[in-house]
Amino acid sequence: MRARIAVLAGDGIGPEVTAQAARVMNAVAARFRHEFDFHCALIGAAAMDAGQPPLPDDTLAACRDADAVLLGAVGDPRYSDPNAKVRPEQGLLALRKALGLFANLRPVAPFPGIRDASPIKPEILDGVDLLVVRELTGGLYFGDKTESTRAARDVCDYTSDEVARIVRMACELARKRRGRLTSVDKANVLATSRLWRAVVQKITAQEYPEVEVEHLLVDAAAMHLLQRPADFDVMVTENLFGDILTDEASVLAGSMGMLPSASLGAAGVGLYEPIHGSAPDIAGKGVANPYGTILSAAMLLRHSLDLNDEADALETAVTRALDLGALTADIAGGAASVGTAAAVDAVIDARHD
Ligand code: NAD
Repeated sequence: MRARIAVLAGDGIGPEVTAQAARVMNAVAARFRHEFDFHCALIGAAAMDAGQPPLPDDTLAACRDADAVLLGAVGDPRYSDPNAKVRPEQGLLALRKALGLFANLRPVAPFPGIRDASPIKPEILDGVDLLVVRELTGGLYFGDKTESTRAARDVCDYTSDEVARIVRMACELARKRRGRLTSVDKANVLATSRLWRAVVQKITAQEYPEVEVEHLLVDAAAMHLLQRPADFDVMVTENLFGDILTDEASVLAGSMGMLPSASLGAAGVGLYEPIHGSAPDIAGKGVANPYGTILSAAMLLRHSLDLNDEADALETAVTRALDLGALTADIAGGAASVGTAAAVDAVIDARHD
């Protein structure tokens, strides 16, 4: 197969981890006789440094032309003034909206080789294999905002159609997994959450009676996620709650640097990125954990290119590299660690075992 992949490296550690993920994808291409054409484009602070908006028109065009998009991260302390009208992070929000990427899939399944990296007791991590499906283009992040030094307002909007499409996607995914859905809201306080819960109840009862449904308030969900994470299969929630809960869930996996994500729409191009940010504190040091980006590339192979064997092979190679001790500083727990490129060398070598 020949595929065109737009690579938006972005800021901070973004260029380091995407370059390494492209290396791994080239190794997959060589082994399985594919050809991946990488088309690099600017986003975030990197675009602003070039005198362009955080999402330049030609970047959006490159993404629309591609079979899939691989993204590093956006965000730079030089542009962190909260009063600034233009910020790097707007580039990513605009891209998700422009591509209609309403569903963000974030799998969390701790790797055996790095269980010690999590502060959670091993018996609680046993059997953890969950998928958070986060709504990505609605809610507080996209609602109207007003802001002054005396008062500020963020509007949270959801329509029943916006809720229905993400709930259907979550139900379809639950059907292919263990058949369990946990919907997370704040229906005791928020009107949008009451709409959310009503839509979940209607769709699951009418269209997915075989899916077992649980409703949790977000505050309780935050607690249960650490107390009984193995009970969860698919967790569906709105934009803000999903953002926070998946950072919390990264503790189960040992580090933010381990978690991949896929952002999908009804059709068209998918966007794949690690859940972490640009990590300016470690940028340029060659120590960033590349596994979340590599696992995002595996999701790209599976969801956008339908290359399931290739995705499985890549995930197996990551498991082996971790088993063999190719641990970056964030997951080494104070023991000897390897740099970003050496971790990727181990993944590429592991494929030949
Ligand atoms: P962050 O995820 O960048 O970093 C949080 C902590 O995790 C830091 O200590 C960092 O060193 C560590 N970390 C993150 N990724 C790592 C990796 N791959 N390997 C090793 N350690 C890793 O979050 P932050 O510090 O809150 O935000 C930094 C910038 O990133 C901000 O500008 C923020 O807006 C942006 N951000 C971007 C995205 C995105 O592009 N999707 C997501 C979150 C935050």
